[in-house]
Amino acid sequence: MERKINAYNNVLELIGNTPLIKLNKVTEGIEGSFYAKVEAFNPGHSSKDRIALHIIEEAEKKGILSPGDTIIETTSGNTGFSLAMVSIIKGYSCILAVSSKSSKDKIDMLRSMGAKVYVCPAHVSADDERSYYNVAKRLHEETKGSVYINQYFNQLNVDAHYKSTGPEIWKQTNGTITHLVACSGTGGTISGTAKYLKEQNPNIRILGVDAFGSVLKKYHETREFDKNEIYPYRIEGLGKNLIPSATDFDSIDKFVKVTDEQSAHAAREITKKEGLFVGYTSGAVLQAIKQYADEGEFDAESVVIAIFPDHGSRYMSKVFSDDWMNEQGFFDSINQEDVQKVEMIK
Ligand code: PMP
Repeated sequence: MERKINAYNNVLELIGNTPLIKLNKVTEGIEGSFYAKVEAFNPGHSSKDRIALHIIEEAEKKGILSPGDTIIETTSGNTGFSLAMVSIIKGYSCILAVSSKSSKDKIDMLRSMGAKVYVCPAHVSADDERSYYNVAKRLHEETKGSVYINQYFNQLNVDAHYKSTGPEIWKQTNGTITHLVACSGTGGTISGTAKYLKEQNPNIRILGVDAFGSVLKKYHETREFDKNEIYPYRIEGLGKNLIPSATDFDSIDKFVKVTDEQSAHAAREITKKEGLFVGYTSGAVLQAIKQYADEGEFDAESVVIAIFPDHGSRYMSKVFSDDWMNEQGFFDSINQEDVQKVEMIK
């Protein structure tokens, strides 16, 4: 008798097809129905699994990559982790050039996934030969059989979401989606998903989320790159200090900017009220929904899909650390009784 084993061949087969989960508490009082596309259900715990797999497989199809070759990127974040994971299964070396600003945890995590990590000085300008951009470029030039992923300027980043995230949302909502709310970093997620959804129904509103300290919102509204908009902020993965060619600004209807503090509290709120352990930018998306609601974007008929990009476990020493929240002054504006409760629990 033939026995069938119900198993996946490897971890990559689990990429995509993430669930939509109804938000029951955090959007209480706002008109409309709200659902989160929870990208932490990808095996690498973020939406970046989709682009890592797609970009590598496209390079394979074009004959640019063969087993033993090298994948190179400049990132300490989710993309690096996903690239390292895909490289393991497909038999590539993975080199990541990261800034010395990256936490030890993050660097250890990438090394645990088998990546070779070059830590480059954070205080040098982008055109300095020691900067992580130039180190990655040099390694790419020097390494035969290497591919430089370059996610901010790679159209395949957009394509990955056009081919997967967009169709999944359309199918999961039976075509009833009225609004998409998504962060913009490289812009790959929002641009690719928007392109697919607008092709199905051009009336779907595409609402972007940007950070204070980033140039994207102003560029969207004026097509002006205003360097006065740039200042340091805490949220990682959201907003940018340059204009990525992976962002299709025409596909986005509107942007709001969110603060570090409100987004951090919103991430903790999602976790505490919905039991969904999600990352900092998921908090940014919830905060943006609240601001868009104040601007009158939604009504009782709205079907709003929020993309939650990654998992809360990546932020244990930040948003989910009371000490870190305190150091940032993020508990200053809440009443002292709550702060005392935090102290007592510790
Ligand atoms: N959230 C997190 C945590 C991210 O790492 C990123 C990627 N930079 C984003 C949101 C934004 O996604 P995208 O780059 O596709 O715009």
